[in-house]
Amino acid sequence: MHAQDDAMTTNPWTHALANHDLHTHTSWSDGRHPVSLLVQEARAYELDAIAITDHYFPGMGPAESDEAFDRYLTEIDAARSGQDDVRVLQGIEATVLDVTGRISIDAAHAERLEWVLCDLGSRSEGTFLNTPADKGVYMENVVRTYLGLCDVPYLNAIAHPFNTGNTVPSALPAEYPGHLLRELAQKMAERDIVFDVINSTMYWFKDSGIAPRALTAQYVEVVRLFAGEGVRFQMSSDDHRTGLGNTRWAELVLRRAGVTRGQMVDALRIGKRR
Ligand SMILES: [Zn+2]
Repeated sequence: MHAQDDAMTTNPWTHALANHDLHTHTSWSDGRHPVSLLVQEARAYELDAIAITDHYFPGMGPAESDEAFDRYLTEIDAARSGQDDVRVLQGIEATVLDVTGRISIDAAHAERLEWVLCDLGSRSEGTFLNTPADKGVYMENVVRTYLGLCDVPYLNAIAHPFNTGNTVPSALPAEYPGHLLRELAQKMAERDIVFDVINSTMYWFKDSGIAPRALTAQYVEVVRLFAGEGVRFQMSSDDHRTGLGNTRWAELVLRRAGVTRGQMVDALRIGKRR
């Protein structure tokens, strides 16, 4: 623990559920800013920890070549070296490729990272790619995809689960059948796969017609269900520009869902993989 009494009283973030931001992007993928600036910002904001998690799929950033991957890791390492005030994790955001949970990063590369996220994105067959016209089938495919992902031994967290508002058809959080959510929550808890609550969740529902506060209320109920099954959480900005450390909405949702500090990932305890 680093919490001395004077630090407790002078750092206004100590009241937060967590003082971390474990999903961020840099100019290595589709973020605007270099790694070095994100690390400087994290220090300025007195965050405990951030994870640099650029996109990882064929042709993109750190996945372009082994040489690029090496440079990515070296650059993060250089930006964090010599300082121990902010924990900076070498991570990536992989993407899931099909409903079996096939992921875009292999074990050999993942082993060199400290934090591996995976999202449902435009390359995900059977969900975002060739989305089933039947909403029930679509939602079942989403949950099957996540269940498959839970079998990936080097996966740490699912990025913004249920980001399915902008597809046709769209699937809102409250529309997922409870038994499917519970099955997934139980498997995530068993495998210790973390649920990533991103601040910009509204982005994923901008085309769905849902009112922002209705989305909040629906997402709160999903988070509450997962928390009830023992799933752990992380907060993030999913920063691409200058939003590093902005986890206001994420914290609002987690608090409203009754999540406690003990259910949050302790980023300071994340270790180097073997
Ligand atoms: Zn992201």
